[in-house]
Amino acid sequence: MKFDVITIFPDFFASILEHGLLKRAMASGHAEIELHDLREYTDDKHHTVDDRPFGGGPGMVFKPEPVFRAVEAIRSEAPEQNLRVILLSPQGHLLTQAVAEDLSHAERVVLICGRYEGVDERVAQNLVTDEISIGDFVLSGGELPAAVLMESTVRLLPGVLGNEESSEQDSFAVPAGASAEVRHGLLDCPHYTRPAEFRDLKVPDVLLSGDHEKIRQWRRQRALEKTWRRRPDLLAQVPLSEEDRSWLESLKSAEEQR
Ligand code: SAM
Repeated sequence: MKFDVITIFPDFFASILEHGLLKRAMASGHAEIELHDLREYTDDKHHTVDDRPFGGGPGMVFKPEPVFRAVEAIRSEAPEQNLRVILLSPQGHLLTQAVAEDLSHAERVVLICGRYEGVDERVAQNLVTDEISIGDFVLSGGELPAAVLMESTVRLLPGVLGNEESSEQDSFAVPAGASAEVRHGLLDCPHYTRPAEFRDLKVPDVLLSGDHEKIRQWRRQRALEKTWRRRPDLLAQVPLSEEDRSWLESLKSAEEQR
């Protein structure tokens, strides 16, 4: 898949493109990322991308013309491609694993990184297919959100993660074989590594037992417990076995008797 990132700070992406997962995914041909400097789509000698808001008030707003031109230039490169055009915005719908999973099936995704007070509303109304937020907080620009969106999406592309680091066991991963309505899985279980004892803090015995069935059961129960305590909203959407349900019932009644 290809990402086209429209930004006034292309250098911002140097670090994430030179390290880790995105670099690997590009080197192996799974992902392509092209940076577009918004200033190159201006037509004045100062390369102006912003102006004062109509109606007054503080801050500056990205002008519509350079953003439209940038997206139109990208579209003209491959008119047959189905473009997803995403405006990163705190007002967008929340980026979740399900949204990343959906995006991972896209052929080409344009990411528009705002700055200042944001982007002229005509962009959101007439140019973009999605507005996406990475959380209910406000950052100074869309570059970090674009990086978060790209990494969370690219790691779901088949073949990007090796078996060693498969995303199937991760928090939120939809369980294998689940129906299409299931959009999320549980939170992940806790993980431990050597040493088995550190400053009197011991790793649970079951993980050292070598009994694979007991380890599987322990991991499932811990994942259920963490999800129940921290994200009961997710639990309501996940398919549960009889064994899961009876474990959760025993957990709840133990809690009530405390
Ligand atoms: N005035 C805007 C508002 O209150 O909704 C905030 C603008 S913000 C300072 C500047 C840019 O940062 C936005 O246009 C957007 O691209 C990006 N941004 C900030 N917070 C974000 C978030 N939570 N998710 C996605 N993008 C965000």
